[in-house]
Amino acid sequence: MEGGGLICVCRDISDKKRAEAALQQRQNQLQNLAAATPGLIFSAVMHPDNSFECEYINRAVEEIYEVTAEQVLEDAAILFAQIHPEDRSGYDIAIARNVKTLDRFQHEWRIITPSGKIKWLQVNSQPERRENGDICWHGIVMDISSRKQAEAELAQAKEKAEAANRAKSEFLANMSHEIRTPMNAILGFSHLLQDLVTEAQSRFYLNAISASGKTLLALINDILDLSKIESGKLQLRYETVNLQVLINEIVYIFSQKAAEKNLAILTDIDPNLPPSIIFDEVRLRQILFNVVGNALKFTETGYVKITVKSQTIENLHSQAPAWERANLHSQAPAWERGKIPLELAIEDTGIGIAPEQQERIFDAFIQAEGQSDRKYGGTGLGLAITKRLTEMMGGTVQLQSELGKGSTFRFIFPDISCAASPGNPSPQTELDCNLNQFPPMTILVVDDVPSNRDLIQGYFAGTKHALLMAKDGIEAIHMAQKYHPYLILLDLRMPNLDGYQTAISLKNNPQTQAIPIIIVTATFEQDQQVSSLCQGFLRKPVNRYELVSQFKNLFPHESKLLSKDQIADAPSTSPSSNSETIKNLPELLEKLRQEETQWQLLRQSLITRDIRKFIQRLQDWGTQHQCSLLLEYCQTLQTALETFEIERLYKAIDEFPQIKQTLEQF
Ligand code: ADP
Repeated sequence: MEGGGLICVCRDISDKKRAEAALQQRQNQLQNLAAATPGLIFSAVMHPDNSFECEYINRAVEEIYEVTAEQVLEDAAILFAQIHPEDRSGYDIAIARNVKTLDRFQHEWRIITPSGKIKWLQVNSQPERRENGDICWHGIVMDISSRKQAEAELAQAKEKAEAANRAKSEFLANMSHEIRTPMNAILGFSHLLQDLVTEAQSRFYLNAISASGKTLLALINDILDLSKIESGKLQLRYETVNLQVLINEIVYIFSQKAAEKNLAILTDIDPNLPPSIIFDEVRLRQILFNVVGNALKFTETGYVKITVKSQTIENLHSQAPAWERANLHSQAPAWERGKIPLELAIEDTGIGIAPEQQERIFDAFIQAEGQSDRKYGGTGLGLAITKRLTEMMGGTVQLQSELGKGSTFRFIFPDISCAASPGNPSPQTELDCNLNQFPPMTILVVDDVPSNRDLIQGYFAGTKHALLMAKDGIEAIHMAQKYHPYLILLDLRMPNLDGYQTAISLKNNPQTQAIPIIIVTATFEQDQQVSSLCQGFLRKPVNRYELVSQFKNLFPHESKLLSKDQIADAPSTSPSSNSETIKNLPELLEKLRQEETQWQLLRQSLITRDIRKFIQRLQDWGTQHQCSLLLEYCQTLQTALETFEIERLYKAIDEFPQIKQTLEQF
């Protein structure tokens, strides 16, 4: 072995070893992190030939997909194979879109695992395009099955609650129909009896029946209103509203109550308001009626003040954009620009509301705790309706109140449309309940409830019209074909064939299609479909004025054809009221002549207490002289007063000289 040798090369590899150890440490760290992450971490690549490959996937794949990481790294397609067939196309579309946009990829879909479990997954990843054309997604897939299940259960519970709410609303609508039907008889017959009953005690009882009936009806309407709002069925009707007139009316309506309690009703109305606004007048009136009514009810001394203002010019300045601000000084009233914010405040100096009650009182059926039921009564529905109506019309309610000092309810509507014209006064209901002003006609009354038919018969008793009665749609169609009536008064809900089907059948038959139909129903709202088939609509409880007013709409020319004499000559509308039976007419005329001075004063002051006295005097004379015309006139005044139909009341008062004139011609 001579000459042999060993050459050793020694190299210091400490750096390499250190680097390897550091790498290993980093790798362990990443693996631990990946294992601790609650989800599946992946790196997946789509090659230019559209094939997929998984570059990295953590162990979570075993729990979610029930396959091993090795299987996926070998063939990524086993993951795609698990996509639920119903979600397949959605998934493909989402990927195709993401390939184009390269936005963050977020998607939810279902898979069916090898053991048959259906799971909801959610991916969140960021794609990137590599130089070789590959697209690579790095991201995380989460199993969101429990969240989805909770969502589904919530949706189911919501659906169930909504169904229960619908059932409740339907129940209320039905119940109200059922209650309205007997109410029709109670109120209607009480009304008819007003003409017949003269003895003081009986009249007292009768008035109590009438007043309680009206209260009950108001309560039913409140409950229905609330259920309609809650079920989203209440529709707003926007029209031109003159705020000044509306507030005056409200003040007028409550002036008597305020006077009785020795309270002042003050108003402060912004002079810069537009002549009128576009609003739902009926609902605004309902809000004011309720809140002003409450203010008076809960106040014993002091005042109730209604303030109406639009936003001040300064506020408009600060809110308007700069380019508009420059013009504002030259723009006189803000409303001319089309929209205004509106604020209505009702302030009282009453008992106030404790801070902890202030939110609760807007809930249905809630009244302030400890409040005397006997003293204040009420149902706790008014404010619930008020708040919901306000919100439906885009407004908010604010309450400021202090126990023992008073309350202010403030309604803010930020975006009210203005109208430049003062707005048309609402159509005035003619003062009239004389059915004899129309030529004699045959009228078919269709209603399944005998008392309803009797009531209509009562209204026509003693008139020159002939009434036919049918108890359901089948009988009605038969009678309409046989007798060809001039007009049909048709109830909607009836057994055998309901009013709607009856109307369709009558309108499809050439023999009967020309006969006008007036719907008479206890159903709360006019139905579009029914309206298209009919010429008139009367809501139970029906009263004679509404009946006459519907007739006037339908037969405007017929009513004018008859002269006053003819009307007076014709048999009268109630048994005790034809001209021959007026006792000592000259004496009555003299009393009416003397009344004229009082009437002149009344017309100007329109003080409720005086109107009541006026009605009472006329009523006494009507009874004493057996003059039905006068009694019916009193009835009109009385009803208008009690139902707060101010326009009807004003008009009725104005008609006094005509009543006198008509009697002079007797
Ligand atoms: P109701 O007046 O029929 O009780 P509301 O819903 O209109 O029903 O009012 C609910 C409750 O709110 C009242 O019972 C009363 O306790 C309280 N409330 C409403 N307005 C006033 C007010 N102006 N002053 C004091 N309390 C009020």
